[in-house]
Amino acid sequence: MDEATARQHMERAIAEMWRSPNTARIGVVLARGDKVLASAHKGQDLNHHAEVIALKLAGAAGVDLRGSTAFVTLEPCANLENARIPCAQLLVDAGVTEVWIGRFDNNPRIYRRGWKLLRDHGVSLRDFPADLRAICEDGNSTFSGHFYKRIGERGTAKFDFQQNGGRYQLVLTDSPDSPAWETRWSTCGATSMYANGGRRGVVSHARYAEKFSEIDDPDALDWENHSPRIDIGEIAIFRNEYGYALCQLKSVDPPENHGGTGHTSMKFDYELRLR
Ligand SMILES: [Zn+2]
Repeated sequence: MDEATARQHMERAIAEMWRSPNTARIGVVLARGDKVLASAHKGQDLNHHAEVIALKLAGAAGVDLRGSTAFVTLEPCANLENARIPCAQLLVDAGVTEVWIGRFDNNPRIYRRGWKLLRDHGVSLRDFPADLRAICEDGNSTFSGHFYKRIGERGTAKFDFQQNGGRYQLVLTDSPDSPAWETRWSTCGATSMYANGGRRGVVSHARYAEKFSEIDDPDALDWENHSPRIDIGEIAIFRNEYGYALCQLKSVDPPENHGGTGHTSMKFDYELRLR
């Protein structure tokens, strides 16, 4: 399909996306050439994913989907925990031969699995252009944020640092105007991480401290390093106008359900302190 026609369908899928009533917004268009065969959005029928709704609408209209193209603002699901057939498989079964994806699922357990299932079945895959991808991201900001955020004064965070730019947000309360801290991490090996402040004065390394209670006034520490290396067991502190997020690195882990030596997730305990 040519880019100009594809773009019209992508824009239509985005318009569908915005019709979704909740924060996990998804829009789907099934098309052949410049003809729209069916379109749907998440929430249109609460029992079904948007792809299923679009496939049902096409089926009800007697449309043959073999050789058609799908435009999805979020990659189709591939691994459902219930017995239902995942959307990526349903698209394959319907004979869809090309899929354009607006964004990949931020859930580390799902990320690019839909893409892979489609690829493994010979489906031709395209990405939405960057400007449209940004809109798909916008439409789901709360949804994707869920995996990279924790609420509460203390807790444990475990996340995939290869996604979301290595950012993990710590929020004091569930109020929309709660104090919040953005922590940011990047890989440094099997037993350490870099804590990234991006500039001076944002992050500090409480060297030799083994417990949060051993840190009296965080401002007394050195805040000159942009990205100190934090070994497992060590404490990094992120500060902003609200106060301090004390983070003790607990582990650097290989991905879930995979072998290999690559480390892609990390775990840290944290404590939030207001100024
Ligand atoms: Zn699905």
